[in-house]
Amino acid sequence: MSAFANPSHMPCPDCGASVSSAEQSGHVCDPERRADFLMFQLREEIAGFERGVREYLTSPHGRFAQWLAERRRPPLLD
Ligand SMILES: [Zn+2]
Repeated sequence: MSAFANPSHMPCPDCGASVSSAEQSGHVCDPERRADFLMFQLREEIAGFERGVREYLTSPHGRFAQWLAERRRPPLLD
């Protein structure tokens, strides 16, 4: 049974489990389920971050920033 098909069940914001309104006050997150849920969210964030970096580095602004970083390397000491 899906959480969306039954409005009396809400997904727990911490672990993503479908919790009935009767259970909500007494709901305790299953640590394993919670870890899976956090990892899933983290994976989404990491994927978005990597995509953002790649887009930045291939943009004219990102290429300029890389060129500038090369130029700004401190000169080698004698
Ligand atoms: Zn929970």
